[in-house]
Amino acid sequence: MKECLFCKIAAGEIPATKVYEDEQFVVFRDINPQAPTHVLIIPRRHIEKLTDLTESESGLIGQMQLLANKIAEQEGITSGGFRTVFNCGEGAGQSVWHIHMHLLGGRPMTWPPG
Ligand code: AMP
Repeated sequence: MKECLFCKIAAGEIPATKVYEDEQFVVFRDINPQAPTHVLIIPRRHIEKLTDLTESESGLIGQMQLLANKIAEQEGITSGGFRTVFNCGEGAGQSVWHIHMHLLGGRPMTWPPG
């Protein structure tokens, strides 16, 4: 998607601090971190929001979580606990229209989230 910020980050057209990338996924640090570790896990494929996922893409979310587990290990936040979050839709706070999993950790997390 030409005008998508996260597609541009994935393509290297806009700078970001990437911590991981492969053929399918890119992981980079959030520009406005809400925890000592706050990274975004995105598929390279442009999908606007969770509700646009099709049956054939159902495995994507599991793969993203497995990648989050790996990055959490890499960041040293596994034993302290971490949170993975998707915001779906404006009401939930989604502001970038390319699905992304937030991975947050490195501090105690409270519930409910704001
Ligand atoms: P959401 O509100 O769930 O759509 O999350 C979007 C996230 O993208 C927010 O946490 C923003 O801080 C983050 N963000 C926006 N622009 C950038 C950028 N250029 N590089 C890294 N993170 C960004």
